[in-house]
Amino acid sequence: STGTGEPHLTHAFADALPELAVPWKAAPAPHPQLLVLDETLAAELGLDPTWLRSDDGVRFLTGEHVPAGAHPVAQVYAGHQFGGYSPRLGDGRALLLGELTTPDGTPRDLHLKGSGRTPLSRGGDGLAAVGPMLREHVISSAMHALGVPTTRALAVVATGRDVQREVVLPGAVLARTASSHLRVGSFQYARATGDLALLRRLADVAIARHHPAAAAAGSPPEQARALLDAVIAAQADLVAQWLLLGFVHGVMNTDNTTISGETIDYGPCAFIDVYDPAASFSSIDHAGRYAYGAQPGVLEWNLARFAETLLPLLVEGTEDDDASGSDRAVAIATESLGAYRTRFAAAWRSGMRRKLGLAHLVGDDDAVDQLVTDLLRLAQTDHVDHTGLYRRLADAARAGSTAPARDLFLAREAFDAWASRWLALAPDAAAMDAVNPLYIPRNHLVEEALAAGTNGDLDPLERLVDIVTHPYAERAGWERYAEPAPDAFGPYTTFCGT
Ligand code: AMP
Ligand code: MG
Ligand code: MG
Repeated sequence: STGTGEPHLTHAFADALPELAVPWKAAPAPHPQLLVLDETLAAELGLDPTWLRSDDGVRFLTGEHVPAGAHPVAQVYAGHQFGGYSPRLGDGRALLLGELTTPDGTPRDLHLKGSGRTPLSRGGDGLAAVGPMLREHVISSAMHALGVPTTRALAVVATGRDVQREVVLPGAVLARTASSHLRVGSFQYARATGDLALLRRLADVAIARHHPAAAAAGSPPEQARALLDAVIAAQADLVAQWLLLGFVHGVMNTDNTTISGETIDYGPCAFIDVYDPAASFSSIDHAGRYAYGAQPGVLEWNLARFAETLLPLLVEGTEDDDASGSDRAVAIATESLGAYRTRFAAAWRSGMRRKLGLAHLVGDDDAVDQLVTDLLRLAQTDHVDHTGLYRRLADAARAGSTAPARDLFLAREAFDAWASRWLALAPDAAAMDAVNPLYIPRNHLVEEALAAGTNGDLDPLERLVDIVTHPYAERAGWERYAEPAPDAFGPYTTFCGT
């Protein structure tokens, strides 16, 4: 930042990829009011929290005050939404303000959501409501604290503008940071233009920014393949983390699948309470395309769409770069995609071993796999709380007895039989408590905090963020934050674009 505290923003994305960037400015906010500022994140970014809280700072966080030298843009991308291709999506209610450089020299995108209409808004109003922006703040903060790669919420500013949804709601702008906003949809857009130089430039930007090891992979086609492999690996690891934590993204369209491997777009996401592979919360996901257990499969589909965009680069300039070259490119892409399932399965299996306190075991793979399968079957049949289960199991491991966990199950004898097999493997309770959160953003707690926040009381939200960003260590007096929703909460529904 400069001496005044005003941030210095670069515009490397807009410079390198002008075809994917529409210069634009945020709509002014009539009465901006800072609701949330993540000061820890601000410090990590090298931003001055005092300045961010100033009038200029708050207007910077809504996009109205553009620092000298910054060139905000709406990003253009395409994408498959629920399987159907849209050739031109893009930032319909968002803007890339530019890149910040952190004190350690890392570029981070600074992006706004809810900053008004853009040339890419299609039918939308370009706006966002306070509740959903606070929701993104809570859940992305929790994900970060849980060690999941994610975009981050720097600030939420109420705009003082009404937003018309089913009811009139107070409007807000979220200031979000990310290692970048490149998505599979960015590549789909570039590829669809037919401009191979653009596609190559995009791949080079992605490699330099996210997967620099790919630059050392050799020739340009080898680098393109290394990029594909790196994205596949990062995304396989990411979705494994989601599953281990019980996270349901809810809208895994290809425009919401990042090149960095960060979780992006906290719209209709939710955490499961009872373990159920079919769990789905989004009001528009009628077929369960993006259900909890469907996520690894849908991600594989999205990565296949990514691989398709890279086909010309995979053989460019080689002896296969002719009319028949597409066969060779498809063979390369297919081989890379073939690694996805193995990578995901390895990440998930080792994650389940850690959850069960068995990371120290060597060998016995089939026995441990069977143990995991049997536990999940019991948990599903008996509607067991996913998050609570592993903490109770740690208690059981400490006690050397099934008792602390058995009342979660209806089939108690079946659970006892399972638990005695597991206890015989000497699970490490302390290691379990270090990976299994006690506190997650429970749906009913999130809704309670957002309702209060929308009415101007941010205390419940601040308490919730406090506890979910310290997810592992038990805190006296915070028992209700570890409990699943009461039955009266009923089935949970989430929404996109709110
Ligand atoms: P999402 O489902 O959140 O990934 O959004 C899909 C697309 O819809 C993106 O291009 C968004 O920019 C756009 N969009 C979502 N909500 C709005 C809105 N209220 N106004 C304009 N565009 C929107
Ligand atoms: Mg999106
Ligand atoms: Mg969204």
